[in-house]
Amino acid sequence: MNRIEQTLSIVKPDAVERNLTENIKRVFTENKLKIVQEKKIQISKEEAAEFYKVHQTKPFYERLCNYLSSGPITVMILEGEDAIKANRRIMGATDPKNAEEGTIRKQYGLSIDKNSIHGSDSIENAKKEIEFFFKN
Ligand code: UDP
Ligand code: MG
Repeated sequence: MNRIEQTLSIVKPDAVERNLTENIKRVFTENKLKIVQEKKIQISKEEAAEFYKVHQTKPFYERLCNYLSSGPITVMILEGEDAIKANRRIMGATDPKNAEEGTIRKQYGLSIDKNSIHGSDSIENAKKEIEFFFKN
């Protein structure tokens, strides 16, 4: 039986800038992922570095943190059956060139850097990432 889960989604600066947030939200709701919380914010480079800490040894880390803090983002908690995996499927592969037809990254991603969307990749990370943005 599938379980109801929550996962974190981020509409990245390239997509917010192109006014794609509403289109992306529609893809979620059409796929039975409910948006339970949402806010548009801009984070500092330090906050981006903390958020993407798991990638701190990667060659793209510095660029990634600069990018995520470069403009407004929309962060959302999505909820639904098997939400973490479902969201990853709807997002598509990290590199839009490899993403399947119909996925968000295939439709809107510009490059592996500017790939329009973030989604948690495990139950543990979903919990951490939701707390990161929505602790209150
Ligand atoms: N990224 C990048 N170059 C790479 C791999 C990843 O710029 O070679 C960026 C990309 O924007 C990606 C983010 O780093 O979304 C986090 O990487 P991850 O492997 O976690 O991909 P995701 O979970 O976002 O699909
Ligand atoms: Mg990831």
